[in-house]
Amino acid sequence: MTSPMSRPLWIGTSWKMNKTLAEADTFIDELLTYRIPAGIQPFVLPSHTALARVRNRLPTNSPVLLGAQNAHWAAEGSWTGEISMRMAKDAGATLIEIGHSDRREHFGETDRIVALKVAAASAHHLIPLICVGEPLAVRDAGGAEDFVRVQVQAALSELAPAEIGRVIIAYEPVWAIGERGIRPTMEQIAPVMALINDVVGPEAGSARAVLYGGSVDPQNAAELLSVPHTDGLFVGRAAWAASGFIELLKVCAPRARAAASSTSYSRTLPQNADRQA
Ligand code: PGA
Repeated sequence: MTSPMSRPLWIGTSWKMNKTLAEADTFIDELLTYRIPAGIQPFVLPSHTALARVRNRLPTNSPVLLGAQNAHWAAEGSWTGEISMRMAKDAGATLIEIGHSDRREHFGETDRIVALKVAAASAHHLIPLICVGEPLAVRDAGGAEDFVRVQVQAALSELAPAEIGRVIIAYEPVWAIGERGIRPTMEQIAPVMALINDVVGPEAGSARAVLYGGSVDPQNAAELLSVPHTDGLFVGRAAWAASGFIELLKVCAPRARAAASSTSYSRTLPQNADRQA
């Protein structure tokens, strides 16, 4: 079991529906010019079309973990337009993002569907990266904590206790995400991060982490990381250019270094699937 100080800082980005193969190459080539600081666990979630391309472009010893932005819960079959967990893994995914607010809002992803996908990801030894967060009306009505508690409990409901040690939860208030996102205050975030940490519980597996996402940028990253129980940041727009991602990694480096220099630090991190022995 690892202590909280020994956990890496997870700093990652989803490209959402962006980047051609050439644009993906440009991002990765620029990222490779930068030495990832100790104690940071970077991750990138390309579109499905770019996933294998990015995997092949990264050197085999790269610390950058890859993931898919979605995958179906069924093992295979007649699910036109979907990809399975197995296919995502085959293309290079170690992480599977599940339940982003775009998926919940535009593609009808319910708490039940999220739970099925989380269980399927775990069964395929993929790390579920589960997004939760309340809409603005719920926040304004004072219901943010109850809303997120229900989402997290539902998402984990199909997992065995041991599997919960290998789950990442990203708290992403819906009102903070995207172009019209409102930058949250630390006071707004802190109670929700604490409750997620509580619900996930103390199983300290190799990938157990609670991240914050929504309007993260280099200006607010350090402050967000100072919120208790925050193991990292999940970033959209500010990291779509490699220069932006690198800027964020630089800003987060001092906090990661502090954790890495603690005596209990051990870099027992997961590896991309194709790189496992
Ligand atoms: P944003 O997106 O950083 O562009 O607000 C965050 C997310 O959707 O994860």
